[in-house]
Amino acid sequence: MSAKVSTSRFLDLPTSIREKIYAYLLLPHPEEDVTTINYTLNWLYLDKPSNTTFAGSTQIDLCSCPREDIHYDDSPHDSHIYTRYKCIGPDIHFTSPRNGLWVLQTAHGQFNILRPASADELKLRPTSAILQVSKQIYSEALPFLYRDRDFFFLTGPCPRGRYQAYATLQWLGRLSERARANVEILTLLVQTYEEDCNVADVEGAYVELAEYIVDSLPGFKWLCIDVWDEKVYGAASVFSTLFEEERMGVVARKRWQGFEAEVFVSKESFLGSFEEEEE
Ligand SMILES: [Zn+2]
Repeated sequence: MSAKVSTSRFLDLPTSIREKIYAYLLLPHPEEDVTTINYTLNWLYLDKPSNTTFAGSTQIDLCSCPREDIHYDDSPHDSHIYTRYKCIGPDIHFTSPRNGLWVLQTAHGQFNILRPASADELKLRPTSAILQVSKQIYSEALPFLYRDRDFFFLTGPCPRGRYQAYATLQWLGRLSERARANVEILTLLVQTYEEDCNVADVEGAYVELAEYIVDSLPGFKWLCIDVWDEKVYGAASVFSTLFEEERMGVVARKRWQGFEAEVFVSKESFLGSFEEEEE
């Protein structure tokens, strides 16, 4: 039987049956709690980016990006101190699980402990070959690849922070509009070095992501935050803007509460949880 004949026979099936098949092939497996996507950061302008020298919030990195607010009359190649949101950030490259998938063993601030995914975990990944069969099937099946799936972005050691929220944003921005419209769940790790070595820059990264979710993810439902570090938790309060859209909520799991899931569906209760922490 030729591929053409089998495709048309598949399309002869009632839509409801085709959708059951897409759901079976593409929706997350019950045992798959998060869909990890690995990425790497490429710093084009940092002077000698190192994966091992961390000096916390006092860390100073020299950068030679072309900043419009700095004028170099005499020495055009002088570097300046890297400042997030003024300097050009890292390039993000997303790696295919076909080239090896690393998953989180334990969050650990400067150095998260990662391990290669097991064969069983790899088997839980969706089989997306059906999307390549025809344009019509691609269009029908695509939403099932994103719905109900909890996307989580993970990278290894890095010079000054893993820029996780930034990488999440870059990934969302590179999706087609139709794919993006079906993204419903995202997970973030909340701890030092996840966004930047400078804790003061964490809030900015979260504000940017929250704005994008509200403006560009019409199907979004849940933001999950796994909080490993009390010092950075306060920055997550900016996600309260998500509650302006009634369909959205936040699930917080905090290390000091044994990662028991707290589900927030109102801005008041979410912001109230930050006041409790301060008491
Ligand atoms: Zn710069």
